[in-house]
Amino acid sequence: MSALQALKTKLADINALEAAGAVLDWDQQTYMPPKAVEARARHASVLGRLAHEMWTSDELQTLLGRAEAEAEPGSVDAALVRIVRRETSLKTKIPAQLVERKAQLAALGHEVWVEARAASDFGKFAPTLAEMVDIVREEANCLGVGDSIYDPLLDQYEEGSTAADVRTMFETIKQPTVDLVRAIRETNTQPDTGRLIGEWDQGRASEFTLKVVQAIGFDLQRGRQDVAPHPFCTNFSVNDVRLTTRFKPYIGSAIFGSLHEAGHGMYEQGSPEEWDGTPLAGGVSLGVHESQSRLWENIVGRSRAFWEHFLPSLQGSFPELDHYNLDSFYAAVNKVEPSLIRVEADELTYNLHILLRFEIELGMLEGTLAIKDLPEAWNEKMREYLGIVPPNDAQGCLQDVHWSGGSIGYFPTYSMGNLLSYQIWARLQQDIPNTDDLMAKGHFAPIFEWLRERIYAQGSRYTPKDLVVRVTGKPMGADDWMSGMKSKYSALYRLA
Ligand code: ZN
Repeated sequence: MSALQALKTKLADINALEAAGAVLDWDQQTYMPPKAVEARARHASVLGRLAHEMWTSDELQTLLGRAEAEAEPGSVDAALVRIVRRETSLKTKIPAQLVERKAQLAALGHEVWVEARAASDFGKFAPTLAEMVDIVREEANCLGVGDSIYDPLLDQYEEGSTAADVRTMFETIKQPTVDLVRAIRETNTQPDTGRLIGEWDQGRASEFTLKVVQAIGFDLQRGRQDVAPHPFCTNFSVNDVRLTTRFKPYIGSAIFGSLHEAGHGMYEQGSPEEWDGTPLAGGVSLGVHESQSRLWENIVGRSRAFWEHFLPSLQGSFPELDHYNLDSFYAAVNKVEPSLIRVEADELTYNLHILLRFEIELGMLEGTLAIKDLPEAWNEKMREYLGIVPPNDAQGCLQDVHWSGGSIGYFPTYSMGNLLSYQIWARLQQDIPNTDDLMAKGHFAPIFEWLRERIYAQGSRYTPKDLVVRVTGKPMGADDWMSGMKSKYSALYRLA
């Protein structure tokens, strides 16, 4: 057997363990009874440890070295060994002891964060966060610090991206976004969103979201949708992709949440079947993944054309919404309003929440922001970017779970996804100029096909930066997003 073949067999074994772990995790977040937590943690940790041992084993290293010599430059096999080299190197650079310390602190940190948020008291969380930042700094040093200590952390989620890239991205959009938000506020236009809040029959809401995700291209023969308090998408193979959604008083939560997760899900379903079980299958990075969820959620799902097709059917399920016509509904689901909570932010103000977190993370890691000063820094930035100040820490710097688990360096990928979604869409429209006509007829296949061929079917073959250039002809930039925002909201809010 060639080394490449032997490597693929080994990778399939590792993948089976990881897929089993993913099933356990999906179950935990959807159906598992609460008292199963402890046993489940034990089971998941054994699977995780076995997979980690296999990833870092001498056997895999030896096979990889031989496979690298065998792979034809530029081939799919060469891409595979490149990805495996990166994975094993990320996994071996951080000592097991540090991984262990971080996992323990994360478990404890989560409890501390829950209590601190309930009491709205950042002081309770500060010592844990300080310890976590130390661990993350150590982690960055193990991975190899570039120009910024932020670089190796971001690179784990978005290969090849640096703090400098993120700074450039935000420098381009920061002031124009703040100005646009202010201009919108000054119009005093208030889209009527009141009737989007209600008690919705869950069965009918679920039926509607399934109809929508299927219409845009999610394959229910190779996936399903369940309910979870914090929606996510996971997969166990290219033929088994799980979406989750949630039903809240705001009807948009279920609809746009389902569209968002289906965007992730279609990307996963679109990998070539022969890559299944190897690291070639699946989305290439968090930023590119998010570009697909945001494209379907915002550019398609929040377009007027989309609702030209779907509003009658939504009103058929929920006559309470008959009060809306197409224009008032379109305005309502696109309402811009600075808000305290990131996950509830509209499409335009969302990036400002990410900018704030990026600057704070950078300050904590570089040591220019003392942990004790974090609430003040947070509130100051909220005032500057969004014009509002949280009344307490729970609605301010304690709102996100991420830092308690040591996930630092990951927030910017959300903004990258927003920017990329518009950049990809701009390129798509050069080939398919009549997207509005198609969407208004409920005909999404040409859009899906264009994305499938150029993005989904490429799996992780190319690096994120290479893929973006291949698909759009240029590196990630902010221009398409910014002009998309200006034209959409100028029309909606009748700005001069
Ligand atoms: Zn997402």
